Amino acid sequence: MSTFTTETAKLWMAMDIGPLWIGRDEDDPLSPASIAKDDIKNEVSVSENIQTITAQPTAFTSDAFRLQTTSSQRSVSPHDHAILTSPESHRPKTYELKPIKRAFADPGIVEVDSELLSEAQKADWHTLEKLVSRCTACKALSQSRLSTVFGTAERTAKLVIVGEAPGRDEDIQGKPFVGKSGELLENILCALGLKRGADVAIINVLKCRPPNNRDPHDNEIAACATFLNRQLELLDPKVVVLSGRIASHALLKTETSTGKLRGSVHHISVNGKEVPTVVTYHPSYLLRSPTEKIAAWRDFCLAKKLLLDLV
Ligand code: SF4
Repeated sequence: MSTFTTETAKLWMAMDIGPLWIGRDEDDPLSPASIAKDDIKNEVSVSENIQTITAQPTAFTSDAFRLQTTSSQRSVSPHDHAILTSPESHRPKTYELKPIKRAFADPGIVEVDSELLSEAQKADWHTLEKLVSRCTACKALSQSRLSTVFGTAERTAKLVIVGEAPGRDEDIQGKPFVGKSGELLENILCALGLKRGADVAIINVLKCRPPNNRDPHDNEIAACATFLNRQLELLDPKVVVLSGRIASHALLKTETSTGKLRGSVHHISVNGKEVPTVVTYHPSYLLRSPTEKIAAWRDFCLAKKLLLDLV
């Protein structure tokens, strides 16, 4: 029987696997004393059992449409209806909900504002965020978005995670990786002893949510690349993690699947330097395919090891 270690405990916690059974005669691996001793020096084995699995786009759901349909279509919960008709909300008692028209069947039309993009190429972080909020290059995305999702970072961050694009929760909150995916990612980072913000910057290839969470079109990725590249220049990362197929295809310029790309150290050029880069599955894919969590854990351990080797 294999020994139960702090690493095992952290892995289980991060991956939301349980329950934890701790022998009476053993040290509690989750006690503060045990955890303080640990600085993740494990050798990471990354080559075995690589599977070729490509993340699939989520099923078609039109959140905006569903929220705006008539109550007879049973899309507004009794709770929502109570709020909508409550006297405090100063709304009319009967609330006529109509579908809103958005460019769902969009062909991905892009009209780049070259002046705005050239400004972005030399902007500081704060100015860049403002430029992104003004950007309407991708017609469908800028019309349907609730907010632009610029990213979270602090100057101390040495690891940069690049995701795909905002989803529904991110669009609502204006922050990357929130909701269930964000929770899973935070758990993984926490298990690695890394703090989102101070240690880890999180940005996306696209700053606006594609309608119905469809895959970004190539011209949309190209239009947003100026913002992404400038973010990377400003962050000047020591290590980059590409989370999911869209991010790895955009930055490694390849069509190879995530399953084949992960497990190796790649490099991307930032500020004229070759930055070690690890590919892993997107947390939303891990939520749909929990058996891949162990592979993702190995990828993050590899990224942490690279980070420690460079310090
Ligand atoms: Fe502009 Fe990027 Fe949003 Fe497209 S995704 S509208 S390029 S900020």
